[in-house]
Amino acid sequence: MVAVGFVCGHGGTVGEPGVVALRRVCPLCMLLHETHRSRSELLARVAPPQRAALARETRVGANYDWRCARGHDRYPATVREVLTGPSCAKCRANAAGPAASREAGLAFMKPGLKVGTSMVEQRLRMLLGERIRLHHRVNAVRIARMFYGKQEVWPDILVPQLRIAIEYDDPGRSRRAHRGLKEASDLEKDEALREVGWEVIRIRAGGLEPFGTYSVVCRSLTVAAVDEVVTLMRQIRGDDPVDAIAIQQPAVS
Ligand SMILES: [Zn+2]
Ligand SMILES: [Zn+2]
Repeated sequence: MVAVGFVCGHGGTVGEPGVVALRRVCPLCMLLHETHRSRSELLARVAPPQRAALARETRVGANYDWRCARGHDRYPATVREVLTGPSCAKCRANAAGPAASREAGLAFMKPGLKVGTSMVEQRLRMLLGERIRLHHRVNAVRIARMFYGKQEVWPDILVPQLRIAIEYDDPGRSRRAHRGLKEASDLEKDEALREVGWEVIRIRAGGLEPFGTYSVVCRSLTVAAVDEVVTLMRQIRGDDPVDAIAIQQPAVS
């Protein structure tokens, strides 16, 4: 068997006989990066006897026993499932239960969540804010399933009056990660939102293909692209609800 060593230090020891050195991080480190998690977070969730093995793990398909963050029974799952999947069976049932469905689709303010930090996101917020009244006090939506271990999602921009979320994607954002994985996770996020009555408009910049039901494809974030987003909002919800939050723009002469 050929051992593989990764630059993150996991896997075989580079330099030892029979170890092939790869110039990238191991698949598990890649997935952690992609899902904005850390290995120590993951280690805190695994059953303690398996901690040492998980500390060295490179495979996202490896099975471990996990402790539910809400104190339910331990449950077996792969690393991939824990990072991207629907969590423990009890949490899953609760997420789909009647108590949760009352809150499903609700937009709320999640304190401490970093949003709109990138320049392009700020610009998008500004351009959109010149066209419709944006609600600045919300950044998360309660969903009716578990997503990355949470019963909520954090789209880039929320328009709760229309139940529309806007996501900005460009290759810079996806390149840092596993493209296929990011798209699968984006699809799941869109579905979770649709399930609770929201629609998602994706701005696909920098050569990205259309993705999901409503996409605005553009080279970079332009005024025309943002206008197109508003047009899509009208298509999705009709003119009246959009007019109700529209900001009168001075006519361009
Ligand atoms: Zn690694
Ligand atoms: Zn649970």
